This record gives sequence, C-alpha cells and structure tokens, in this order.
Amino acid sequence: MEKKLNKIIENNKDLTLEGEVATYIPELGKANAKDLGICIADMEGNIYKAGDYNKKFTIQSISKTISLMMALMDNGKEIVFDKVGMEPTGDAFNSIIKLETIMPSRPLNPMINAGAIVVSSLIKGKDKEEKFNRLLSFMKKISENDNLEIDNEVYLSEKKTGHRNRAMAYFMKDVGIIEGDIEDILDVYFKQCSIKVDCVDLAKMGLFLANQGILPSTGQKLVSEDISRIVKTFMVTCGMYNGSGEFAIKVGIPAKSGVGGGIMASIPHRMGIATFGPSLDDKGNSIGGYKALYELSKELNLSIF
Ligand code: GLN
Repeated sequence: MEKKLNKIIENNKDLTLEGEVATYIPELGKANAKDLGICIADMEGNIYKAGDYNKKFTIQSISKTISLMMALMDNGKEIVFDKVGMEPTGDAFNSIIKLETIMPSRPLNPMINAGAIVVSSLIKGKDKEEKFNRLLSFMKKISENDNLEIDNEVYLSEKKTGHRNRAMAYFMKDVGIIEGDIEDILDVYFKQCSIKVDCVDLAKMGLFLANQGILPSTGQKLVSEDISRIVKTFMVTCGMYNGSGEFAIKVGIPAKSGVGGGIMASIPHRMGIATFGPSLDDKGNSIGGYKALYELSKELNLSIF
C-alpha cells in the first residue's frame, strides 16, 4: 500500500506548482507550496503513509465537522437545524451574499463559514475557554493524539484579520440567529481553525467517522451513528466548498477540506484518509490533495456511489 501512496505523491508533486497557498490569513502564506503528503488509517489499525504526512498544518475548515458533532451532541438536531440549514450554496465558503437574500435569514449549511460560526456558538460551556477546551479534548480523543494544540501565530493572525467572518457574525446577531458575545464566539471559531494536525491525526478522525462514531482501537462509542451519518452526508454535499458536486462525481467519497491545505476523507466501514498540500485551487481546495484522492479512489475503488 505504501508503494501505491508513494507513487501517487510522485505523480502529483509537480501539480502543486499550479496552485497557490492561502494568504488572506497572512500567517498561512508562509506554508511551503510544494509539500504533499497522504495517510490512510484503516479499520484493522494499519497506518499507511507517504510524502509530507508528518508535517503539521492548521486544520481550518475541517474543524467544522468536529464542531458540528459537538453542537449536535450538546443540543440535538432540532435546535441546531433551526439555526443552520442543510443545503449546498454554490458560493465560496466565506460568501456573505445569501445571508440577507434568503428568508428567514440563516446560513445554508454548517460547512460554510457563516454556518460554522453559528455551530460554534452552540457548543456548551461556561465561557469561551471551556467551550474551546471541550472541543479540543474531543478532537484529541478521536484522533487519539493527546498533544494536539493550537498554532498561536495562525490564531492571532486570523483574529486580527478576520473582518469578513466578523461581519457575518454581527449580521447574524442582528437577525437573531446568534446569541451571546460575538467576539467570544469568534474566538472559539478562530481557535478551532488554528488547531495543528498532521495527516495521521486527520486520517484517524476520518476513520472514526467511517466507523460510525466508534473509536476502532477501543470500541468506545463517542458519537451516535445518526450524527456520524449527518456529518458524512454534509461532507459529500458541502465538504469541498463550491467544488463539492464535481468532487462527488470525480472522486465519490465524503471529504472535507481546509485552507491550511488539509483534506479529511472518510470511507464508510473501510478507512479514513488524509492529504496535505497547502497549494490550493481557485475554490480553496488542495490541488495536490484533490488529485491524490482522485487517483487513490480509482486505484482502490473507493467511490461510495
Ligand atoms: N479559518 C478559515 C476562515 O474562516 C477557515 C476557512 C477554510 O478553511 N475554508 O476563513
């Protein structure tokens, strides 16, 4: 298997030159555009890896899947889906436009920034520290990595420049979708996006979802089958931003990407896969990671459709 993975990395190394690293969060601009890594974690406990699989990067939007699990566990489906919808947008992940044009005003899904900010506002805790720490502990459990921590530079960089997210959040407060202190809610959101992971961490999180919310190594059930199903479904319909439809047709697997260059994929009952390559295409998806998943899906017959 590692031979196959090494070959896939070799095939796509040069493709990374065709994309660009994200710079709208200034600190992300320091990433090495040529990095490309992949990891598979399967149900039998095998870990297969290749390329820059152990480089750390910030999880960014992939954290939206984890915060959604927590918000659903904390509040139940009714409360969460009263405030955030279930439909793809066809717009960029940080688009504001539909917030005002759709009535009643609420973000269309939890995988776009507006929806994810609402989701973060629903995580329970007495203050922003407790809310974030609950989320971090949950992530440590499902990645089986107790050393996860935030990248402070990326966190501060986004906190300083995240004006668009701030604008959305204040707008949603105005229309009554979000309750509470906006700066505190954004703090939880910016911190969750700044958690540092590598491909092994993400592959294990993907495996946890693939195994219906049960940690394969211990058999511990941490999330209901229903929640795990909901999250994977959102990964199919909205996980690759406004490129989700094309990804579903070409690759055919539930996946969530982040502007830090990561993609977490989950093949139900089979495996978790993660790729890392900070060079992004025009939709904000890792250009090398996307193509690596495309090749792997063909090679291992992974499409769920
Ligand atoms: N923290 C990033 C933002 O809010 C996450 C976006 C992403 O990964 N697509 O802009």
